[in-house]
Amino acid sequence: MDPDRTLPPHVLIFPLPLQGPVNSMIKLAELLCLSGLHVTFLVTDHIRTQLLKYSNIHSRFTPYPGFRLESIPDGLPEDHPRSVDGLKELLGNFKINNRTRTLFRDLLTSGKLISPVTCIIADGFMGFACDVASELRIPIIYVRTISACCLWVFFCLPKLIESGEIPFSENELDTPIKSIPGMEGFFRRRDLPLFCRSCNLEDPIFKFHLHEGKENPRAYGLILNTFDDLEGPIVSQIRTFCPNVYTIGPLHAHLKFKLTQAGKSSSSNSLLKEDTSCIPWLDSQPPKSVIYVSFGSLAIMTKEQYVELWHGLLNSGCPFLWVIRGNSVLLELSKGMEERVEERGCIVEWAPQEEVLAHGSVGGFLTHSGWNGTLESVVEGVPMICWPFFLDQQVNSRYVGEVWKLGLDMKDSCDRVIVEKMVRELMEVRRDEFRKSTDQMAKVAKECLMKGGSSYCNLERLVNDIKSM
Ligand code: UDP
Repeated sequence: MDPDRTLPPHVLIFPLPLQGPVNSMIKLAELLCLSGLHVTFLVTDHIRTQLLKYSNIHSRFTPYPGFRLESIPDGLPEDHPRSVDGLKELLGNFKINNRTRTLFRDLLTSGKLISPVTCIIADGFMGFACDVASELRIPIIYVRTISACCLWVFFCLPKLIESGEIPFSENELDTPIKSIPGMEGFFRRRDLPLFCRSCNLEDPIFKFHLHEGKENPRAYGLILNTFDDLEGPIVSQIRTFCPNVYTIGPLHAHLKFKLTQAGKSSSSNSLLKEDTSCIPWLDSQPPKSVIYVSFGSLAIMTKEQYVELWHGLLNSGCPFLWVIRGNSVLLELSKGMEERVEERGCIVEWAPQEEVLAHGSVGGFLTHSGWNGTLESVVEGVPMICWPFFLDQQVNSRYVGEVWKLGLDMKDSCDRVIVEKMVRELMEVRRDEFRKSTDQMAKVAKECLMKGGSSYCNLERLVNDIKSM
C-alpha cells in the first residue's frame, strides 16, 4: 500500500452525499488538482448521476489528468426521493451501513485507483472513513462544510448538558447561554441547532453530535470552509480540541481566484438543472434593487409559511427573484398566487446562485442561512435576512445578525408583517449601514485568498503536508 514516490501524491476526497457538501468539496478537489496532486472524487452512485447530468464535471476536470470520479451505492432504493424527509435515513444509512464501509475499504485496496492513496479527505460526519483509514494506515484529514461557530457548539454539547443549559423549555428560548467559551453574552438557547430544542437527549441526531468533540480530533487535521477574519476567535477555540486546523475558505472564491490566476474559468457543479432565464430578468432591474429569496437544496416550507412569505414580499414593494424548488413547499399552491408573484418578481426552480449573488441588481438575500449560501453572500457583499430551518442555520443566522452585522435574523418569526418590515429595513432604512459592513467583509474575504493571506497560506500548508506524507 505504500505510495510510489515518483508519482504525485494522491488524495481521495469523500463528501457527504448532499448538494452543499458536494459543492464545496468539489471545489477543494479542483484546488488540489491545481496544486499538482492526483485526486479521486468519491461520491454515491446517485450523486454521480446528478453530476454527470447537470454539471460539466468531465469537461471541467479534463485539464487535470490525475482526476478521477468514482462512486459507490448509498444503500437506498433507486426511487428514494433523497429529499429532506429522507435525510435522516440517508445519513443514518450512510454512516452506519456496514456495506458502505466495506465498499469504501474494498475500493481503497482494489488496485483500480490511479495510484495508492496518500491521504483521505473525508467529511467529518463519516466516522467509518477514519476507522478504515487507520486500519489501512492511510492518513486522514476531516473536512467540515458547516460554519466553525456551529462546529464549536457541537463540541460544547457535553458542557451544555453538564451545566444544565440543555434540555430547556420553550419559555427559556431567550435565556443567554453561559457555558460555550467565546459565545458568552449574545448567544441564546434560541440560537442553538434546532435539535437541541427537542429536550430529547436520546434523539439519534443529538447523540451523534454529542460525540463530535471526540470524533473530529481522531484525524490528522481538520479543514474548514471559513476564513480567519470571519471566524478566527472561534477557530482558536476549536484548536483546543483539534490543534491542526486548515481554514482555507471561502472555497468557492478561493478556487475562482486561483483559476483566474491560472488563466482558466470556473464553472457550475450544480446537482440540479439551473434556470438561467432569471439573468436577463435581473439585467432589466435597477442596481441593488432586487431581493434574492432562496432556501437552499433541502429546506421545506409549510403552506402557511409560504403564504406569509408571499404576502410579506408583495407588501414590501421590493422586486424579488424567488427560488421555489419543485419539492420545497408542502401542499399545492394556487395558480393565482404564483401569477401575482410574477407581477413583481421572477420565480425559478433552481438558480445559478453564485452568478445571481454577483449580479449588480441584487441588493439583498433572504436566505435559510446554509453555510455555502452565507459565504457566497459574504464574498459578494450582499446583506442577508436570515430565516433558518435546521442544521447549522440557527447558529449562522445569529452570527450574521449579531456578531458580523451583515444582516437581520428573522429566526422563529415568519409572519407577513415581519417579512415586510425586514425587507424594507434591509433594502431601504438601514441600507447604507449594511452596505458598509458587507463591503468591508467582502474586501477582507478576498484579501485572505491573496498571496500572504490566511487562506492562501493555509492551503499551501495543507498541500505541503500532504506532499510530505
Ligand atoms: N444553490 C444553487 N441554486 C439555487 C439554490 C442554491 O446553485 O437555486 C446552491 C448554492 O449556491 C449553494 C448550495 O446550493 O452552494 C446550497 O448550499 P447551502 O449550504 O447554502 O444550503 P443547503 O442546500 O445545504 O441547505
